[in-house]
Amino acid sequence: MSLRNKVLITITSVASVLFIVSLGVMVLLFYRELNEEIDDTYKGIYNLYKVLEENSSANHHNIKELKIKRCKRGLAYVLDVDGLYVGRLSKSKGGCVFSGTKINEILQTLSETYDAFYFLLYERISVERLNEIYFPEFFDRFIKNRQIVGGYILEGPYAPEVIKSIENIRGYGLIGRFPNKKLVIEYPILDVNELPIGRIVFVEDVSPAFKNFLANVGIFGVYNFLLISLLSVIFYTIFSRIVKDISFLEKLASEFQSGNFKNIQLLAKKIKRTSSDEMERLKKAVYIMASELEELINQLQQDKEKLEEIAYKDPLTGLYNRRFFLEHAKKIFEHAKRYNDPFSVILMDIDNFKRINDTYGHDIGDIVLKEFSEVIKQASRSSDIPARWGGEEFIIMLPTTDSNGAKHLAERIRKMFKEVSVKVGNEEVRTTVSIGVSQYNGHSRLEDIIKEADEALYRAKRSGKDRVEIYSPENSGTS
Ligand code: GH3
Ligand code: MG
Ligand code: MG
Repeated sequence: MSLRNKVLITITSVASVLFIVSLGVMVLLFYRELNEEIDDTYKGIYNLYKVLEENSSANHHNIKELKIKRCKRGLAYVLDVDGLYVGRLSKSKGGCVFSGTKINEILQTLSETYDAFYFLLYERISVERLNEIYFPEFFDRFIKNRQIVGGYILEGPYAPEVIKSIENIRGYGLIGRFPNKKLVIEYPILDVNELPIGRIVFVEDVSPAFKNFLANVGIFGVYNFLLISLLSVIFYTIFSRIVKDISFLEKLASEFQSGNFKNIQLLAKKIKRTSSDEMERLKKAVYIMASELEELINQLQQDKEKLEEIAYKDPLTGLYNRRFFLEHAKKIFEHAKRYNDPFSVILMDIDNFKRINDTYGHDIGDIVLKEFSEVIKQASRSSDIPARWGGEEFIIMLPTTDSNGAKHLAERIRKMFKEVSVKVGNEEVRTTVSIGVSQYNGHSRLEDIIKEADEALYRAKRSGKDRVEIYSPENSGTS
């Protein structure tokens, strides 16, 4: 896997985990806050109700006389045909006096303060029993303007879903689908006769708190996502730059490895002088290493060329020497053998050369040798291999050329050389060349072809020099 992909996968995984964990923590915190808010609402309503209840007996225009045997002091609930009252009992001459307020008044204040709605649920059985305690038609008169729902007598706005769930609620509970939740608070009532006559139910719409919770989670989620994405992009950009530098260095290193140093200056340009971090130091090190390597390779190349010159070239004439000739001629010979390709060899020997040396000196002899080399260079093609065979003898290998073609070249050389003169004082020194030509003819050894050229050359010398002879088997050995 490439470094860039590794970085990409790592950053994506870390960012995803970070996103999920931080969102999870935030959801928990928001949820705790929501629960506290609901708890506070419940406590607020409950406490306010308690305070209002305590003050209920202060409302003196709502006094009710009651015949009760056991007159227990303190807070009491009394159910009358027109509704439920809350207040206090006190002893008087006539027996027991109850002074209190109609509960609806308290509940009205409460519902206005909290923007909640409420209703009262009376137990049907308990109200029926009041017939015996108060008077026989109590129940019939009580239900006149009220609704009966199941085992309950209802007073207040009808909310079926609340009534349905009320059996499962003790104190307070939440009903409805998320986020449209309602807080239901129930308060059981025992009347002055200690009968469980029913309960007061408050219903507060708490959906805004749930919607707020949702909005908080949403806002934090988006914010969290954007923040983590931004961080990821920043990290990726930083790593990307490093990866880019590494790929660049890797590319250059493989170029340098294959001996290509043309981008070395590109590297020099990319080194930041102001920065000295590890990457810049690495670039510098690679640059220095590559520069030294290039210099070494150049030096080696030059040395190699020099050595080849010494090993393969004749210093006097600049032509290839015998060693080079044999090495390359062997290759051509093998090729010719395999593909049955013709090739020819021309062997040349300068005529009466000893006399030039003797008459004009060795230096003049050297000049003549150089002049002859120039003639050979001019006359031969680039595919030919001309070489100094030794002393005043020269040789040319002509690939894919038969003896006729070779003879043509030989004649040209002979004629050109005849025109060459070297000035010595007032004298013009001239001489000629004798040439032997042989052609590959299925020989098994290269030496045999050269030997045949030598035989032809010998014949040219014997026949009076300054001529070209082609080897033929008929003449072989006879001359
Ligand atoms: P022929 O026409 O039969 O070839 O006679 P020749 O005098 O050319 O042949 P010979 O083999 O008798 O003489 C060759 C001479 O070439 C002998 C040698 O001193 C001379 N020689 C060989 N190498 C060099 C060289 O590098 N420079 C000079 N100046 N002379 C050389
Ligand atoms: Mg000779
Ligand atoms: Mg000679």
